[in-house]
Amino acid sequence: MASPSQDLPAAFGFLASARPSGGRVPPAVFATRGTHTGVELSLREQTLGATLVHAPGLPPDSAQARDTDTAVLIAGEIYNRDDLYSVLGPKTGQPGGDAQLLLDLLRRYGPHAFRLVNGRFAAVVSTGRRVLLATDHAGSVPLYVCAGPGEVTASTEAKTLAGHGGPRGFPFADARRVRGLPGVYQVPAGTVMDIGLDSGTAETHRTWAPPLARRIMDEDDAVAAVRTALDRAVGARIAPGGTPLVVLSGGIDSSGVAALAHRAAGSIDSLSMGTDVSDEFVQARAVADHLGTRHREITVPTADLLRQLPYTVWAAESEDPHIIEYLLPLVALYRALDGPARRVLTGYGADIPLAGMHREDRLPNLDTAVAYDMATYDGLNEMSPVLSTLSGHWSTHPYWDRDVLDLLVSLEAGLKRRYGRDKWVLRAAMAGLLPEQTVTRPKLGVHEGSGTTSSFSLLLLEEGVPERSVDMAKQQVVRELFDRTVVAGQDPGEVSTAEVVRSVADRLERGVA
Ligand code: ATP
Ligand code: MG
Repeated sequence: MASPSQDLPAAFGFLASARPSGGRVPPAVFATRGTHTGVELSLREQTLGATLVHAPGLPPDSAQARDTDTAVLIAGEIYNRDDLYSVLGPKTGQPGGDAQLLLDLLRRYGPHAFRLVNGRFAAVVSTGRRVLLATDHAGSVPLYVCAGPGEVTASTEAKTLAGHGGPRGFPFADARRVRGLPGVYQVPAGTVMDIGLDSGTAETHRTWAPPLARRIMDEDDAVAAVRTALDRAVGARIAPGGTPLVVLSGGIDSSGVAALAHRAAGSIDSLSMGTDVSDEFVQARAVADHLGTRHREITVPTADLLRQLPYTVWAAESEDPHIIEYLLPLVALYRALDGPARRVLTGYGADIPLAGMHREDRLPNLDTAVAYDMATYDGLNEMSPVLSTLSGHWSTHPYWDRDVLDLLVSLEAGLKRRYGRDKWVLRAAMAGLLPEQTVTRPKLGVHEGSGTTSSFSLLLLEEGVPERSVDMAKQQVVRELFDRTVVAGQDPGEVSTAEVVRSVADRLERGVA
């Protein structure tokens, strides 16, 4: 395996505070596992103090950069470095890490620099008397902020800001409030918030928006474009000399990533997860054998799976019960993945731009689903790296690469559903790389393949929740877990899923919910 420095981003997350004069950031509990390194960058007009969370043994030097007036911190990584270096010219051509690259881009473009970047990151920039907070196009690394007079504090985890906000905090009209944490807001996806340190007023610049128009392409061109874009996205996510791990279900999305990663890296490891209720081991094994990956299977007992619920909510900081249900088996898988920190590629998210959940032929409905999902993904945190950094591993999602997503969203609906098949253009792009039965295999969601949905429902039914109230009960369980782990800061290891389920069932029965 490659050394961690080649294989992982320099920082997974941060808590950072900008003030006119110095001051340390107080210690905080992150869900992200890693070493905490304190930094204090004194500039002409302000000081940026931070705790960086990073992989053990990997100094987070390239997650920070500064000159006399400006400092940059980044959690995560950039995927179009070569393009960015090419606009900066030969003088800045020597890679000094992603924070230095952002600093060089900021000198040239100002806050608009972030419009050029294709990455998986959250960044904070102190410059003059202003603070810039930037998310990638997908908001895939969540970023939260609270600000009061003379202080802007930002973090990749909302829980670390509990107690920082308060009645004197500045409101941000363009950002989503975090329920239960007064004064704490989430920076929207694809956005730079430009905040005045003295006034707390923010200008919000969108740096990306989902395409609304649809492109007409002939079949061959569309298939070739998808193949090329995905190939680039996968290649950009593999460290030179590293062996990536692909979490593989045997569905078309992760199998496509596995095939392209295997070609790009020369070899990959693959991992499948199942439960005692259900698994997709046979289908995943067929792909692993076809490609010749080093393959492993992990079976998580259902009782253990449901015990991961508090960890899932703690990591995702999401209150959406459907999202938590998709993420739960993956969190269980990452938590069962012991050994050194890994770079993990997933097939997550392909269904959103391709409407893979759409199981009928009517194209107007398909595009309604795509438009709706692309307008509402922000704040759900389903791409959050914390789901895997919780166990020390870095995950990345090629289907939500900015260029791949731009292309997939914009294809006209008839290329997504064609000849009676869902995700047709993707299947056609992968034909030849995968077994025929994989290319034509109908979609099965991760929550279905692992039996998560049915297990969670059963747990509620067994506690006496009537069938018609199961969805509502799930929502309340997730909300309660959010209140305990994110808002109140309770250790998820000390929160009992069974107890929370019992109290929700009890409240429902007494009609007080
Ligand atoms: P399809 O959508 O056609 O079923 P898929 O299974 O690859 O393809 P999803 O079902 O949307 O995609 O699941 C999302 C991602 O989660 C997968 O691409 C894969 O990376 C990961 N995943 C899902 N199920 C498993 C599993 N049982 N074991 C390991 N990883 C999984
Ligand atoms: Mg699947």
